[in-house]
Amino acid sequence: MKITVDSSSELVIPISYGSTEVIETGKWGFQKPHTSFMTAPCQEACPAGIHIPQFLYLAQEKMYDEALFTILRENPFPGVCGRVCFHPCEASCNRAQYDESVSIHAMERFIAEVTSNQIQNIQLLSSKNSKKVAVVGAGPAGLSCAYFLSLLGHRVTIFEAQKEPGGVMRWGIPEYRLPKSILRKEIQRILSLPIEMRTGVRVGKDILFDELDQFDAIFLSPGAGMNAPLFMKGGDPERVWKGGEFLERINSKEKINLRKETIVIGGGNTAMDVARSALRLDSKVTIAYRRTRNEMPAIQDEIVEAEGEGVRFEFLVQPVKMNLTKKKRIAVTFQRMKLTSPDQSNRPKAIPVKGDFLTLETDSLITAVGELVDLSWIPKKLIKDDLIDTGSTPKIFAGGDAVAQPRTIVTAIASGKRAAISIDFFLRGDDDGEDLSKISVGGKGSLSMEAYLQGRDSGGWPEKKEVVSYQQINTLYFEPSQRVRMRKRHRNKVLKGFSEINLGYNAKEANFSASRCFSCGTCNYCYNCYFFCPEGVISFNPLDRTRVVDTLHCKGCGTCAKACPRSVVVMKELS
Ligand SMILES: Cc1cc2nc3c(=O)[nH]c(=O)nc-3n(C[C@H](O)[C@H](O)[C@H](O)COP(=O)(O)OP(=O)(O)OC[C@H]3O[C@@H](n4cnc5c(N)ncnc54)[C@H](O)[C@@H]3O)c2cc1C
Ligand code: SF4
Ligand code: SF4
Repeated sequence: MKITVDSSSELVIPISYGSTEVIETGKWGFQKPHTSFMTAPCQEACPAGIHIPQFLYLAQEKMYDEALFTILRENPFPGVCGRVCFHPCEASCNRAQYDESVSIHAMERFIAEVTSNQIQNIQLLSSKNSKKVAVVGAGPAGLSCAYFLSLLGHRVTIFEAQKEPGGVMRWGIPEYRLPKSILRKEIQRILSLPIEMRTGVRVGKDILFDELDQFDAIFLSPGAGMNAPLFMKGGDPERVWKGGEFLERINSKEKINLRKETIVIGGGNTAMDVARSALRLDSKVTIAYRRTRNEMPAIQDEIVEAEGEGVRFEFLVQPVKMNLTKKKRIAVTFQRMKLTSPDQSNRPKAIPVKGDFLTLETDSLITAVGELVDLSWIPKKLIKDDLIDTGSTPKIFAGGDAVAQPRTIVTAIASGKRAAISIDFFLRGDDDGEDLSKISVGGKGSLSMEAYLQGRDSGGWPEKKEVVSYQQINTLYFEPSQRVRMRKRHRNKVLKGFSEINLGYNAKEANFSASRCFSCGTCNYCYNCYFFCPEGVISFNPLDRTRVVDTLHCKGCGTCAKACPRSVVVMKELS
């Protein structure tokens, strides 16, 4: 069919001189936009459940105190975690699928550095029903548990065997990774809460375990402070250092002479710290490990840095014998090993290669083959598989390295928070089983203190949020960019002493790094929905910046939801 237009006829353009507001087109639509906050995958992966997109947004806006408050709500150690956490958050960051993950770890450190040491805005809950809680051990697990219990209004006494609190953060990790001044600042902030700290008191020796019974609840977090023994034939065991003791002496600033060469036996965090400390004492270092690099339990960054600093690795070897040479050196005989099918730890099992041995000479030998929990003072009913297991024992809780969980600082912090919430439930006569699921952050076990505080007294638990996938991010709105690499101390200076290696971000680097965050599932006020709405029915409340939709005139076209880069605006059918 041919359509002809008569150009001589007059065109009629309809113009309304009145308002179209009376035409409530909103009634035509069957779906409307809703604000639906979701959980970012980084937040789900952080064992402490920090609201990462929120703190990064605040950092980008230069609202540093508010950013610190956001972190402190879930984790009292931003300066520590910003340095030595193994940052599983970054491995799950949606941006990693686009170009490179956001530098969450370094940003956490930056926020801790640019803010004061006060407990910003954090209100202590009423102590009307407060109870007395004993915490044994002032490592990350015990200090975190005490911090959260104190925020929840309880009176906490910490018993710590050492003369200073901090656990492995104080006596294990060397200064070049975690300066003591940073740790002290964060512990001071925790102890500015009403917490009694009793250092130099070893439970089981200075006071009896039974004396803890005077408390309404008990949290056990003694860590795993005993060096596992290594059995070797012959030699002079006096000449063999234990990794933990060696690091403790380094951290007490004792002078140690290792002489020219050192062999470190082991493949975990302790072995890496021992090896890198030995390098700083001017010794040539070889790490001997019975499996291969792929099976090493140490944090990956640590292995890479140790290698970069000049530590040598000898894989698939197991020491079997040592003897002193005429020149008073130590000759260590190693059995060569090979890998077979996985063992209980799911790593390939190392078995001897018959008749294949290797002998290495060294001046010093340090063993770092694992840490055990000292259970000598723990009642038998609380012990299972060489760890503490409180099961359903009333009023006794446990966490950190002494229980069956991954041995990292952030998991210790998370276990302290979990215990504080469980203890609070218990002291209030509640059963926590069901409610802990109401405050979980995603599905990997993290809990949100913010959600707990919201639901605790009112019973109004927040809605469960889905985790935002990469596919739900509209990447058209973002430009590819690279992470800022953190500045480091000059190569020539790194091994001269124990000064911190990583130098952190400056304000410009931090601002750019924060701006790379997609803000998955969180509104960062980009105003896309407002600008793109063809009907002009979306506005923002200028006071609290909440989105307001004029539903009488919203036709439900869904443009706003399409234009939201981060899946916060979703269309929902009217019921
Ligand atoms: C050398 C080394 C380096 C590490 N590096 C890292 C790292 O870079 N990143 C990471 O995430 N993890 C690292 N880890 C693991 C991490 O440090 C631990 O998982 C974490 O410290 C465990 O915390 P915790 O509170 O359970 O125990 P701990 O930190 O061991 O603290 C336990 C505290 O309890 C005290 N105590 C023990 N018994 C008693 C008692 N009977 N009475 C009173 N007090 C007692 C101890 O003195 C100690 O202060 C490292 C571990 C080691 C050994
Ligand atoms: S505590 Fe660790 S996992 Fe959590 S945000 Fe910080 S670096 Fe990431
Ligand atoms: S882009 Fe931002 S919010 Fe999204 S996962 Fe990464 S850090 Fe988290």
